[in-house]
Amino acid sequence: MIAERLAQVKMNIEHSIARRKHSDMPAQVELVAVTKNHDIHAMQEAIDAGVLRIGENRIQEAEKKAAILGRNVSWHLIGHLQTNKVKQAVGLFDLIHSVDSEKLLLEINRIAQAFNKVQNILIQVNIAREDRKFGVPQEDAAKLAKLAGALDHVLLRGLMTIAPHYEDAEMTRPVFREMYALFTELQNMKIPNTDIQCLSMGMSNDYEVAVEEGANIVRIGTGIFGQRQY
Ligand SMILES: *Cc1c(COP(=O)(O)O)cnc(C)c1O
Repeated sequence: MIAERLAQVKMNIEHSIARRKHSDMPAQVELVAVTKNHDIHAMQEAIDAGVLRIGENRIQEAEKKAAILGRNVSWHLIGHLQTNKVKQAVGLFDLIHSVDSEKLLLEINRIAQAFNKVQNILIQVNIAREDRKFGVPQEDAAKLAKLAGALDHVLLRGLMTIAPHYEDAEMTRPVFREMYALFTELQNMKIPNTDIQCLSMGMSNDYEVAVEEGANIVRIGTGIFGQRQY
């Protein structure tokens, strides 16, 4: 079941790439399988079917699972990160998608230095300015990006957003467009010591539109594993 769904998602991604209007968009799209609230068996099934990247949004859950599944897959933190959990996060995750404050950025740098590591990060942008969502407002992204460039133990790889949820994914298109525009704007700034290549946007209900609009990392849970049981 998981293998079939995964194959379908991958095919949908390829079709979305083919439908893009701009040929300068990044041609490779990476799939992060979001496994929060799914058990080890389901995760192992997905890994056996070819999943290379696991996305979790809670540190403790991810640590427990990583202790069993190991590090042959890449671990991505997609949920909000509190400064008091940075130590665990830097120890585990290859990419932290959810950096949304100076304070958090500085703490990640400090801990990564202690680990003798360069931590890959994305800046989370609250592009639709929703009250209840984490992420910096669009106009603060460049400032945070410059700070990241000035720090030796973080490497800024790009941007992430969680789009508003609409039943009709087409409604999300303008938001993804705005995000892609911000992404290219930051790239064009050529901020020293950054490597802005990744645009993480699109979830099960809207990834096809996100990819059409330039996403090159999509984060998909339900589309691969079915509904989560809470
Ligand atoms: C849960 C989650 C996802 C995946 O959501 P689905 O709708 O199950 O695909 C993606 N990104 C973030 C940040 C999430 O918390």
